[in-house]
Amino acid sequence: IPTVSVFGVPVCKWGMKDTVAHLTNAVADKAPHHVITANPIMMMAAIENPEYKAMMQTAELIVADGTGLVWAAQKGGDPVAERVPGYELLHELMKQGERRGWKVYLLGSAPDVVKETARRLALQYPGTTIAGYRDGYFGPDQDQEVIDEIVKAAPDLLFVARGADTQEPWIAKYKDVLRVPVMMGVGGSFDVISG
Ligand code: UDP
Repeated sequence: IPTVSVFGVPVCKWGMKDTVAHLTNAVADKAPHHVITANPIMMMAAIENPEYKAMMQTAELIVADGTGLVWAAQKGGDPVAERVPGYELLHELMKQGERRGWKVYLLGSAPDVVKETARRLALQYPGTTIAGYRDGYFGPDQDQEVIDEIVKAAPDLLFVARGADTQEPWIAKYKDVLRVPVMMGVGGSFDVISG
């Protein structure tokens, strides 16, 4: 994977098309990937907190969500192809899932928001299966229960919509037990989809 280092974080240089192709192969190979669509909030967290930076460095794929990171890479003389926004990547992956019959698990946001997101994604991408969903308001004492539910559902895609401070460390901590081909934090995306 061609990357450029931005403040020590390896950001993939691929654009949307190559990113989607790579992750489509990951699903076919059942190879677990923690995908981070990096934004300035995460970069600030990485700069200020060595633990957050180390967590980011364990991700299988980091792409530049916004223009800030695209600019930073350009400024460093080693540009990335284009921005790969998390919200758009979610929909591009759903399109692949539509064609290939993938199973999808939605984790995060308020109960009514994730429920409506599941309903709308099922309508928009009827070739996919929403294998399960659950809200994002639970504590560490419920992690095991949530993990068991996801492992049982055996999805191809796991979208996690919690805050950036929570969603990425949570995926990083549990990805080896979750072993979902694509595990991606999507922030406020469910609020937009259900909206
Ligand atoms: N969220 C959640 N659990 C939490 C905190 C937030 O599921 O403990 C959800 C929230 O409902 C929203 C999404 O995470 O749908 C993004 O939240 P927010 O915009 O506050 O986070 P940010 O992206 O600003 O870090």
